[in-house]
Amino acid sequence: MKRLIFFLLFLTPACMFADQPAIERVEPPFWWTGFRNPALQLMIYGKDIASKEISVAGSQQEGVVVTAVHKVSNPNYLFVDLKIGASVKPGVFSLNFSANKKVVASYLYELKARKKGSAQRKGFNNSDAIYLIMPDRFANGDTANDYIAGMKEKVDRSKPDSRHGGDIKGIANHLDYLKELGVTALWMTPLLENDQPKYSYHGYSCTDYYKVDPRFGTNADYLKLSDALHQRGMKLIADQVFNHCGSEHWWMKDLPSADWLNQWPEFTRSTYRAGSVSDPYVATIDSNQFSRGWFDKTMPDLNQRNPYMKNYLIQNSIWWVEYAGLDGIRQDTYSYPFKDMMQEWGKRMLEEYPDFNIVGECWMDYPATVAYWQKDSKNLDGFNSNLPSVMDFPLHDALIKAFIEKEGWNTGILRLYEILSQDFSYPAPGNLVTFADNHDVNRFLDTQNDDIRKLKMAMAFILTTRGIPQIFYGTELLLTTGVDKGHGTIRRDVPGGWPGDKRNAFFSAGRTVAENDMYNFMHKLLNYRRSNTALQTGKLVHFIPVDGIYAYFRYNSSGSVMVVMNNNEELKAIDTGRYREVLEKFKSGREIISSTDIKDLSKLTIPGKSVLIIDLKK
Ligand code: CA
Repeated sequence: MKRLIFFLLFLTPACMFADQPAIERVEPPFWWTGFRNPALQLMIYGKDIASKEISVAGSQQEGVVVTAVHKVSNPNYLFVDLKIGASVKPGVFSLNFSANKKVVASYLYELKARKKGSAQRKGFNNSDAIYLIMPDRFANGDTANDYIAGMKEKVDRSKPDSRHGGDIKGIANHLDYLKELGVTALWMTPLLENDQPKYSYHGYSCTDYYKVDPRFGTNADYLKLSDALHQRGMKLIADQVFNHCGSEHWWMKDLPSADWLNQWPEFTRSTYRAGSVSDPYVATIDSNQFSRGWFDKTMPDLNQRNPYMKNYLIQNSIWWVEYAGLDGIRQDTYSYPFKDMMQEWGKRMLEEYPDFNIVGECWMDYPATVAYWQKDSKNLDGFNSNLPSVMDFPLHDALIKAFIEKEGWNTGILRLYEILSQDFSYPAPGNLVTFADNHDVNRFLDTQNDDIRKLKMAMAFILTTRGIPQIFYGTELLLTTGVDKGHGTIRRDVPGGWPGDKRNAFFSAGRTVAENDMYNFMHKLLNYRRSNTALQTGKLVHFIPVDGIYAYFRYNSSGSVMVVMNNNEELKAIDTGRYREVLEKFKSGREIISSTDIKDLSKLTIPGKSVLIIDLKK
């Protein structure tokens, strides 16, 4: 579909056919006035467009200046630099394309007014609990968009790796469910068009950076969802991918230049060795293959060092923040693109939105290698990513082991203590996003032999320790991967999300006893955290675990919370004398999950494989 308003001016019929440039795309398709950075680079695509002269005309032209026009090896592209002066008012101007001094085509370019307070938006932060949804698998609110004529993949719910039909409407229909559950921010895996013949449901193979996949809805539907979230006091985090696009991306058939992508004589995969970028002893062949190798055959590797590509991605990111009112970005495969470009992206984002938050998927095993990527890290090579938040993969790995391992000198619950004790590596440990699972790893329950007690311990931990917790959709409903392990089944449909489903787990009557128990646990804990600033931003003190008991405290001027985990199978009665340095100020408390008062804090009894969360009282 051509989205352009296309005008032909002053043409005789003869030259209309001879000289008419079929302008297929102008990207970004529109922009805004009032950004700190006045520069805007348009990518213009159309047959032989490079042979045309470009000028700006119209009543709004004052202050809009063409500062440069760049030709690349493919004459079907032009990159046009505009300067939008501070005095420019919102409105429309005309981009004129001329041949032989005659205007042969025009594009009406709109500069919109930014929403009030746009630059001051507050990104997601410690007050939030993020809920991660894979939109194809949450709820199908509109069966009419399940198949769109002309698109390559059809819906087949019987196949775990096919599209299942979930969409934006399905999510919008369940915002009250999410609000009631107690989560405050929504991260959806990418919604942009993925017109790929296979595996298009997951969204990581973009075929159009400016268009929501019609099977999920429209750009306007996305904006509406954003407004509906904001009306409920909730936040929206977009998943963006700078590392790769989809092999069916429209530009793949007619690349601007050979170096638009990182190309190899024959298909070469990334090494996926993310630690090689920060490795002080890295060999060139390894750093090269990590960053320039392709993530997959169907995921061409973008060359972010191409200056036009770099601008394209940065502007695309800003465009979506401004268009959809985003409260944050999760950047996929963050460490794979060239890091100099990622550094500049972070800088540009924070210049335009100083209180914004971005979390990078830095999938590495150690706090030191993850910390390398967080903004203001004191790295030996001087690198500063400008990335405020990173995903806490080391904590995720520790969580998986902590409750299933036998207690030992350096095993079991001690894993949690050990991971947090390395927080000195991070410039801002409180701004890490913590999680027990996500769409790329086994569901936590699967890793614990379906032991719900251990899932509750993990959820209690990420909702009470430092960081910004992220919960994978369906965790509160005990979704598991089942026997047919694989990415497609990790991303299982929520029962009741589809018309005709046998039961509806979005309502308590449609849930099993165990599901209701888990839902109630999450509901209670999330809502407690939502109103408890000590759990959000309070200080953390923890005690070295002894005999499988791990105790820690979160506190600030308005409250104090004690968390005790018993990692033994059997019930334990513990003497809390060891925690005196914190506890001596308090006389009693209230256990949050069981809603019971505790009159004597000197002795506590904790059932096996469980957690006490005690709101302390003086
Ligand atoms: Ca649908």
